[in-house]
Amino acid sequence: METAATIKEVRAQIKEWKRQGLSIGLVPTMGYLHEGHGSLMKRAREECDRVVVSIFVNPLQFGINEDFDRYPRDLQADAVLCRAEGVDLIFHPEAEEMYQEGFCSFVDMDGLTGELCGKSRPNHFRGVCTVVSKLFHIVTPDKAFFGQKDAQQLAVIRRMARDLDMDVEIVGCPIIREEDGLAKSSRNTYLNPEERRAALILSQTIRLGRQMVEEGMTDAKALVAAMKENIAREPLAKIDYVEAVSMDTIEKVDRIEGAVLVAMAVYIGKTRLIDNFIAQA
Ligand code: AMP
Repeated sequence: METAATIKEVRAQIKEWKRQGLSIGLVPTMGYLHEGHGSLMKRAREECDRVVVSIFVNPLQFGINEDFDRYPRDLQADAVLCRAEGVDLIFHPEAEEMYQEGFCSFVDMDGLTGELCGKSRPNHFRGVCTVVSKLFHIVTPDKAFFGQKDAQQLAVIRRMARDLDMDVEIVGCPIIREEDGLAKSSRNTYLNPEERRAALILSQTIRLGRQMVEEGMTDAKALVAAMKENIAREPLAKIDYVEAVSMDTIEKVDRIEGAVLVAMAVYIGKTRLIDNFIAQA
């Protein structure tokens, strides 16, 4: 496994692989890797000849009062996990490598970002689109792998790639959970034992929502209300949002028809966690 901190090194390696006719898979991450990231690498390993994992805590996608400074980082442990998953190259640039002095070009989106995380995190998706676009230009992957855990991000990236004719296949991968149901997340490390227990309200509410849809619930407002009511029973939880939106446009829907994304962000203490499911009715 190779590691590179500069764009130049990555480009040289990619050029060599392309010369050999090898296909390339990219897994963009912010590090502090867990089995959720591991599942993306496994999928990339299955579908591509060479697997590149980027590890970059992207300052551009964090708001001023968010957790950029305290976001967990452990490159050594990350390298162990990547090696075990058969990754070929880790790209871990410093911020100065990605954003040179005078940087002022961004990829932004008018649609898809008005609801859910885009509403409570203004400029977040501008940061995500900009960095992912840069990674696509640097790595030129045939396929890029993203988790359904960040469902709005996946929809936004798919749209960006389509709108801007990026020659890459976007592959969405299912949410990986802890044994008790909590969606795996680097941010779970922020939780103290009491909060960790309280955090189960997210996955438990996802199960409740899913069950209601399976039992025939088609009224999106009633579904969301029931889910909010369930979350309110947990004293440590504070709802940021629970919404039912179109998978494609991320606009609110009235009815559960076709594929609807039911997504939530909930604060457990100071930690903001997200979870979702796709309602198929
Ligand atoms: P992050 O490091 O949090 O930016 O995540 C990097 C990628 O891993 C994103 O595409 C996430 O959606 C994906 N990911 C994070 N957690 C999970 C999970 N529990 N299951 C599946 N994919 C995940």
